[in-house]
Amino acid sequence: MNMYKRVLLKLSGEALSSPGNSFDPQILKSLAQELKEVHELGVDLAIVVGGGNFIRGKMAETMGIERVQADYMGMLATVINALAVQSALEQEGVPTRVQTAIEMQKVAEPFIVRRAIRHLEKNRVVIFGAGTGNPYFSTDTTAALRASEIKADVILMAKNGVDGVYNADPKTNPDAVKYDSLTYMDLIQEGLAVMDTTATSMCMDNDIDLVVFNMNEHGNILKAVKGDITGTVISK
Ligand code: UDP
Repeated sequence: MNMYKRVLLKLSGEALSSPGNSFDPQILKSLAQELKEVHELGVDLAIVVGGGNFIRGKMAETMGIERVQADYMGMLATVINALAVQSALEQEGVPTRVQTAIEMQKVAEPFIVRRAIRHLEKNRVVIFGAGTGNPYFSTDTTAALRASEIKADVILMAKNGVDGVYNADPKTNPDAVKYDSLTYMDLIQEGLAVMDTTATSMCMDNDIDLVVFNMNEHGNILKAVKGDITGTVISK
């Protein structure tokens, strides 16, 4: 067991939702309780939240919205999620700061890497909203970028109901086999859909380890932080 010192947790927007609800208060509460335990370990915790529970830029065409516009809508959705996570953490007594890549100073701090690191050093959980601030990117790429910037030891990629990376979709293929470890080159060559290629190459180029695990089981985030989870580890 090898506990990480500084982690970047990537939460998808869907991780906060349940069918029919953009936010599920029970899920948010349980998540915050688990993150409180992580915080109590003294681990530096930074979080990147997605926005897919509201909108994804790739849905743009089906909605008749221009892609760039839809991407900005997606980035704003991540800010809503960041505030929801902040609020849930505050209710558990965990000190937090939200920093956004698109400035909106009445709502949150602007993203300033030195300040983010300072917050982590002061034992505050930092939640990054608004993605990278640029259209055509994803929050997975944001996670790779922010993890590099804050020099995180690892990206913990919390998945909904899947406990790692498989050679086929385990929901439709009962013979699907889970990988314990992979390289980023394997992901690209095998076309394994863990994250988009921009995010994958960013992690590979910057030598960031990634752990894919199932967050639906309470306690798994804590286990992942402690290096004690049976997910899939992806490295250079
Ligand atoms: N987005 C963007 N630039 C970024 C990050 C996100 O344009 O740097 C937009 C993009 O439209 C994306 C949406 O925000 O689809 C929501 O993010 P994402 O799909 O990554 O959320 P998740 O799937 O993790 O919930």
